[in-house]
Amino acid sequence: MRKNVIAGNWKMNKLLGEAVQFVEDTKAKVPSHDSVESIVCAPFPYLPTLVEKTKGTDLKVAAQNMHFEESGAFTGEVSPSMLSDIGVTYVVLGHSERREMFAETDETVNKKTHAAFAHNLIPIVCVGETLEERETEKTMEVVEAQVKAALAGLSEEQVNQTIIAYEPIWAIGTGKTATSEQANEVCTHIRKVVADAVSADAGEAVRIQYGGSVKPANVDELLAQSDIDGALVGGASLEADSFLQLVEAGA
Ligand code: 13P
Repeated sequence: MRKNVIAGNWKMNKLLGEAVQFVEDTKAKVPSHDSVESIVCAPFPYLPTLVEKTKGTDLKVAAQNMHFEESGAFTGEVSPSMLSDIGVTYVVLGHSERREMFAETDETVNKKTHAAFAHNLIPIVCVGETLEERETEKTMEVVEAQVKAALAGLSEEQVNQTIIAYEPIWAIGTGKTATSEQANEVCTHIRKVVADAVSADAGEAVRIQYGGSVKPANVDELLAQSDIDGALVGGASLEADSFLQLVEAGA
């Protein structure tokens, strides 16, 4: 049985006081880590404080990005070792907003995925098609290529630990959720791609989240699908009450 992973991706939102208030309001209320993984993906400046405040609780902290290089002349970048050094445990990689606006490619996502494992960070690797790709029936092909590229060269054990987030770009922040059947169809395909590329066991083990306008009102139906093991949530993760409803749905 795969454990659900519910991650709130705050994106570039909240000031420090609001971020701290959020974890104070939620950290004692999230369900046990044995029943669901509850994660907040916070902006870099808040990570040390949030890691400190959530120590010993079932609420975990993720970064929203990182560089793949270890150190050096990369002005403005954050390295994987910096994240693991301060106690961060997960990192979101290849979010469509980074692919679209910050030149993230399948190749950099793959390098970052390797770098994450080298530093004991669990990667949450985002994939998903544009509206045009969906309308021209390229969804499966596009997502398959993204998944294969992101996981290339990882060991089976690493793939087993990887979290893949399927986020159709047309459903992000638009209020348009993929129907749970549409979402599951792609997640089922991703699982098959992993099984074919790595092993049947890895296909069974890898966790696949859905993301795109997930909210308390639609999360149950999405999580009830056979191949959806959680959600990566933007807007609806910003309020503590709503986040708590989402993690409870995943437990
Ligand atoms: P929304 O939940 O706001 O649609 O954002 C989804 C997302 O991009 C999470 O990473």
